[in-house]
Amino acid sequence: MNAILELRDVRAAYDEITVLHGIDLSVSAGQVVALLGPNGAGKTTALKVAAGVHPLSSGQLWLGGRDVTGVAPRDLARAGVCLIPEGRGVFPNMSVRDNLLMMTFTGASREQIEEVAFSRFPILAKRASQTAGTLSGGEQQMLALARGLATDPAVLLLDELSMGLAPLVVGRLYDEVAEIARSGVAVLVVEQFANAVLDFADHAAVLVRGRIQKQGHPDSGLRSELAALYLGSS
Ligand code: ATP
Repeated sequence: MNAILELRDVRAAYDEITVLHGIDLSVSAGQVVALLGPNGAGKTTALKVAAGVHPLSSGQLWLGGRDVTGVAPRDLARAGVCLIPEGRGVFPNMSVRDNLLMMTFTGASREQIEEVAFSRFPILAKRASQTAGTLSGGEQQMLALARGLATDPAVLLLDELSMGLAPLVVGRLYDEVAEIARSGVAVLVVEQFANAVLDFADHAAVLVRGRIQKQGHPDSGLRSELAALYLGSS
């Protein structure tokens, strides 16, 4: 498969402290790749590197067969990279509709944005006039995803989608994420706890202290290795 997004031997640091020690990751269109690992392993940093919001110390970032190392975040966003940060990034005092319509800055029309959001997540249509802060955690995550989809991304970077949500809700969200991938989007998800995402991922990588310890198909013994390593159950 042709990779859309590639991190090649990426190192990254905060000041003098290196937190990614040369990681290789690639995501193709239609694929869900999970990057798993304990607290502080460097998962969020890897997503920030992929979105261009954190610099590489060395290595390369490739997008659609082009070396985009050092390209500004706004240009990567224009090229189709969409980061949905941990904590959802919705504006709690604005209505659901206004949260969505803010995305017209990307050039998408109001109609397009609402059509994509409300067809994918019908509950958001019902909640359109409510303030986002009154939504459940799962609905807020749907809103964050819908805002991301408004940009018609080629690459979706999701940080800890499951944070604070009940397992059933997480399962439904990942069903949608898998659907989004099937529509041709390359999806890279970061999660601390593995089980929920492994049911949906096509490929998984385990990051420990800034190094990829193992990667492969989630069926290939990776689950038991993960359990043995450190993740326990979730
Ligand atoms: P978590 O699940 O806690 O978000 P993570 O795997 O996403 O963990 P990162 O957030 O990428 O890990 O952090 C990797 C390392 O970099 C950690 O040791 C963290 O303390 C450090 N770090 C993260 N952000 C900064 C920052 N802005 N300044 C300095 N150090 C940072």
